[in-house]
Amino acid sequence: MAVFSAPSFDGHEQLVFASDRNSGLRAIIAVHDTRLGAAVGGCRMYPYACEAEALDDVLRLSRGMTYKSALAGLPLGGGKSVIIGDPKNDKSPELWRAMAGFIDSLGGRYIAAEDSGTSVADLRAMSQYTQFVSGFAATEHGGDPSPSTARGVFVAIRRALAHRLGANNLQGVRIAVQGLGHVGYALAEMLLNAGAQVLASDINPDNLARAESELGVVPVSVDDILFSDVDVIAPCALGGALNAQSISRLRAGIVAGAANNQLREIEDGARLVDRGILYCPDFLINAGGIIDVHYQRAALERSTLNAHIESIGDRLGEVLERADRCHRPTGEIAEELAGEILRQSAKSAEEGLRSVA
Ligand code: NAD
Repeated sequence: MAVFSAPSFDGHEQLVFASDRNSGLRAIIAVHDTRLGAAVGGCRMYPYACEAEALDDVLRLSRGMTYKSALAGLPLGGGKSVIIGDPKNDKSPELWRAMAGFIDSLGGRYIAAEDSGTSVADLRAMSQYTQFVSGFAATEHGGDPSPSTARGVFVAIRRALAHRLGANNLQGVRIAVQGLGHVGYALAEMLLNAGAQVLASDINPDNLARAESELGVVPVSVDDILFSDVDVIAPCALGGALNAQSISRLRAGIVAGAANNQLREIEDGARLVDRGILYCPDFLINAGGIIDVHYQRAALERSTLNAHIESIGDRLGEVLERADRCHRPTGEIAEELAGEILRQSAKSAEEGLRSVA
C-alpha cells in the first residue's frame, strides 16, 4: 500500500499506524498541518473494506480539517483519526483505552473529537486515559457539536440563497436533506422553523419515520432525494454524493450540506460550475462543529459561539464572490483562501521569532 505516493497524500506532517492485540484496535492518525495550532479532528470508526480505503479517508479528512479550521478563524491545525472496525459490534472499554493511549502518545499534536461511528460517550471513555480528547463538555447538548454544525450549514444555505436568488428568507424555499442523523435532523428542524419546505431521506427507516412524525418532513426515497425538484440539496450522509453521474441529474441550483468530501473527485467542482450549480464547499460550511469543540476545549464564553458560527456566512460570501468573478469552482477558491491564511500565519510566526532573536 503506497503512503507518500498515495493520491490523497498532501505533505502530511505525520502519519501514525497503531494496533493493539488485546482489544483488536487497528487505527491510523493523520496530522496534516500544525502551523495554526494542534491538529484537531474527529475520530471516525468505520468497517473499511480495506486498509487503503482507511488510509485514503484519514488523509483526505485531515487535510479538510486544516482548511476548515483556517477558514473558520480558529487557532487549530488539521488532523483526523480512523479506527478500522464496526461501530455496532467492535467497541469495548479495552478498545477506547488503547485508542486513548495511542492519541496520548502524540503528546497533544493531535486532539480527537466525535465523528461518524463514535459518540460523546466514547470520547468520555477515552478522556479517562488522555487529556487530548474534546467535545464532551456539559453544554446544552451534552458536548455534541452536531447542532452547531447544523447551524453553520443553515447560515450557509441562507447566504447561498441570498447570493443566487436574492432571497432574504426561507419562506417557501424547497430543500432536500439527504441523511437525518445528528446533523441532518437538526438542520431539517431549523429549516422547517424558518418556513422552508423540507424533503428528506435516510437509509435507516426509523430515522426517516421519526423526522416525518416529529418534524413533518416530506419523505423521499434514498435513490431519488438528490434529484428532487428543489432549490437546495443538503447532503448530510456520507461523502461522495456528488460525482459525474449524480451531478448530471441534479435539479437544484444550490448544494449546501454537512457531509465531508461531497465531491468524489476534483473534476466534480468544474462539473458543477458547468451545470451552473452553486456548490458551498463542505469544509467551509460544516465548520460549526469544530468551532463548538474549540469553544468547549478552550472554555470560551458560549454566548459568543453563535456569532462565530454566523461568520461562516461572511466567509462563504467572500468565496462565492471570488468564484463568480473568475468563473472557477468554489472549492478551489476556498482552498486558496485557506492557503493564504496559513501562509500569512506562518509568516507572522517567523517575524515573531526574528523579533525575539
Ligand atoms: P450520522 O451518522 O449521525 O448521520 C448520518 C445519517 O445518514 C444516518 O442517519 C444514516 O442512516 C444516513 N445515511 C447514510 N447513508 C445514506 C444515504 N445513502 N441516503 C440517505 N441517508 C443516508 O452523522 P452526522 O454526525 O449527522 O454527520 C453527517 C455528515 O456530516 C457526515 O458526513 C459527517 O462526517 C459530516 N460532519 C458532521 C459533523 C458533526 O458535527 N456531526 C461535523 C462536520 C461534518
